[in-house]
Amino acid sequence: MSGGSASLGPLNLKRARILVTNDDGIGAHGIRLLARIARSLCKDVWVVAPENEQSAASHSLTVRAPLRVARLGPKRFAVNGTPTDCVMLAVGELMGERLPDLVLSGINHGGNLAEDISYSGTVAAASQATFMGIRGIALSQISRPQHPIKWSTAEQFAPDLLRRLAGESWKRDVMMNVNFPDRVASAVRGIEVTSQGRRRQIERVTESFDPFGEPYYWIGSPRAEGSGRKRASVSDIDAAARGAVSVTPLNLNLTDRATATKLRAAFS
Ligand code: MN
Repeated sequence: MSGGSASLGPLNLKRARILVTNDDGIGAHGIRLLARIARSLCKDVWVVAPENEQSAASHSLTVRAPLRVARLGPKRFAVNGTPTDCVMLAVGELMGERLPDLVLSGINHGGNLAEDISYSGTVAAASQATFMGIRGIALSQISRPQHPIKWSTAEQFAPDLLRRLAGESWKRDVMMNVNFPDRVASAVRGIEVTSQGRRRQIERVTESFDPFGEPYYWIGSPRAEGSGRKRASVSDIDAAARGAVSVTPLNLNLTDRATATKLRAAFS
């Protein structure tokens, strides 16, 4: 494992070793699609993913319970843990001596935009790779409740996008967060490099009552996306609202340098 600020050079995808994981569970449509895309790019593709859905698991790690691995094929494993557990087990144990060159996480059923990034198990798996000095890319297909998800959009845009990202050199603390818009592929308006957005309102909590009259609470509800500044904004939510594929480079060093400089002056 390596840290620091050195960058990773362009990757020869044909000779690469790729780990595919997700947070929707190993049986999810999106991970099967992503594994298929990865196999179209290189030969050495491994899948290590949670046996059950772990959406909104964020970066949680299982440290107080045993982890079990089910081998489903030569390079395909299910784990009774979180997406982060899966990357740790894959890299530390299951894949042997050779580290993956690239970790792909997804394709998530639903977008991971703005604040979602903090809760997302999909993003966490890619950031875990980044912590280990491995390129990490999270991929999500934005969808709306009660509408069929447009997997073919991700399917059409992902291969070339992955080739292009792999061809770039990138900083070691940086991972990529990709969101495919909720549009048919022919209506997609290009690829935009964006920054993490911020939603206008906080997540709603809904109160209701169970059959025994006890109240229960449900976090999250369907919402309209976009900050309302669609033209000028380079945020992920606004790019998605414009119908573009959003690529956000995320720096996993969370220090705010400007505030640190200001505070140093204040404390000196
Ligand atoms: Mn998910």
